[in-house]
Amino acid sequence: MGKLWAKKQLNFQPMLCPGCGFVYTPKYGDPESNIPSYTNFADIEDWRCPICDGSKDAFIPYIPTMEITAKDDMTEKTEEQHAPLAQ
Ligand SMILES: [Zn+2]
Repeated sequence: MGKLWAKKQLNFQPMLCPGCGFVYTPKYGDPESNIPSYTNFADIEDWRCPICDGSKDAFIPYIPTMEITAKDDMTEKTEEQHAPLAQ
């Protein structure tokens, strides 16, 4: 039941929660929900998004893009704060 769609999925395909943007990464699993690492998304049972409690069925395959690299670059340019030395 409800697993037909997963039959042709690649193993270890990251899955994105469209509700909150959480990405389930099979390589890491979800330790907080007792999902061990290297658990394929299709093999998880009775699991919901740990962030927004969204249905597992709502997750969509997550395709990493080059934009991630660009974002990483921007985080380097956070505003410098000149906090006075605390003593
Ligand atoms: Zn979510």
